[in-house]
Amino acid sequence: MFETAKRMEMLPFSGIRVMMEKATQMQKKGEDVIHMEIGRPDFDTPQVIKDAAYDSIRRGNVFYTSNYGTPELRKAIAEKLKRDNDVDYTADEILVTIGVGEGTYAAVAAFLNPGDEVLVPDPVWLNYIHVPNFFGAVPVSYKLREENDFQIDLKELESLITDKTRMLVINTPGNPTGVVQSYETLKGLADIAIRHDLIVVSDEIYEKLVYGGEKHISIASLPGMKERTITLNGFSKCYSMTGWRLGYAAAPVDFIKAMVRVHQYINTCAASFVQEAGITALEKAEPDVQEMVKEYARRRDYMVSAINSMDGVSCKTPGGAFYVFMNIKSFGMSSADMANYLLEEAKIATVPGSAFGSQGEGYVRFSYACSYERIVEGMERMRKALAKLPKKA
Ligand code: PMP
Repeated sequence: MFETAKRMEMLPFSGIRVMMEKATQMQKKGEDVIHMEIGRPDFDTPQVIKDAAYDSIRRGNVFYTSNYGTPELRKAIAEKLKRDNDVDYTADEILVTIGVGEGTYAAVAAFLNPGDEVLVPDPVWLNYIHVPNFFGAVPVSYKLREENDFQIDLKELESLITDKTRMLVINTPGNPTGVVQSYETLKGLADIAIRHDLIVVSDEIYEKLVYGGEKHISIASLPGMKERTITLNGFSKCYSMTGWRLGYAAAPVDFIKAMVRVHQYINTCAASFVQEAGITALEKAEPDVQEMVKEYARRRDYMVSAINSMDGVSCKTPGGAFYVFMNIKSFGMSSADMANYLLEEAKIATVPGSAFGSQGEGYVRFSYACSYERIVEGMERMRKALAKLPKKA
């Protein structure tokens, strides 16, 4: 048996995958499991995007592209960033990546030295912990608290900054809480980043999934921020393209030139025909996105009111993404025990909040990227299952 490299200790399997595995095993045994654990849209990719990909392959667009991505897609992304996010980028300031997953890796690899500190939210999409760890950098968590509607506590965040802090990661709309950080929060963050000369990595993958009048703001659009921000975005969530593996980083040219060196040694480039379909997504799929958003909003409203009508659990109304973060503290159980209980007793798969960091303890994450009918069924099953549990005195 060969031993793995020492640094592999820094790369555990994800808690979400563990839950998915367990749910899948139950399903194989014939159990009717409702999947509310996965952060994967249940819609098919819009037809117009699929047609663009078929057409691209048919025309023989099957070869390597520039490491940076095709000029046409980079231009379309720059135009999108102007149109939707009010930030001026040229095509040179865009790197096409294999999803935000790769963008995260390239940003950390290119800018963090061993020992450098990076501020990350807690709870968080765990790549922002494990990828810095893998490179010997030190993730330092700032807490997102329910009492504060999961908005970032600026004072606390600033108090965590040391002379080793180099980077600040934000994610809005956020996984797993669904929070949309407000203009005031982002303005305060921008002031802090400028004062302490930090690089900001802004993960905006859920940007179009906002509800009830919430508005997504790109921190790069605030004065003095474009020059220090790496905006990471992608097609997975908003266009329902998780399997296509397409994303991008937008940042000043020097950042992009550093990140492309990481990218070229892992991926060379994103798939040529996928890049071409990406242009169609940006230019023609907005009506499809808006249809999906309408349906997500309907599911969110139902789930939030169902949870808040149950004894012992509660949740905030999330402004974005497709997650509800349910407070289970009144049961005095760990979130892992609760998620296991819900899987075994109610046959609903969720993710324990603790899988997203210590601040997630006491919560369970539901994804509503699952049909409305299944959500209704799942909520009814949960109501019955919770009624059987004793509450903390
Ligand atoms: N960022 C966040 C906050 C996410 O929740 C996810 C998916 N769960 C990703 C990035 C991954 O995106 P991609 O498919 O583009 O790699």
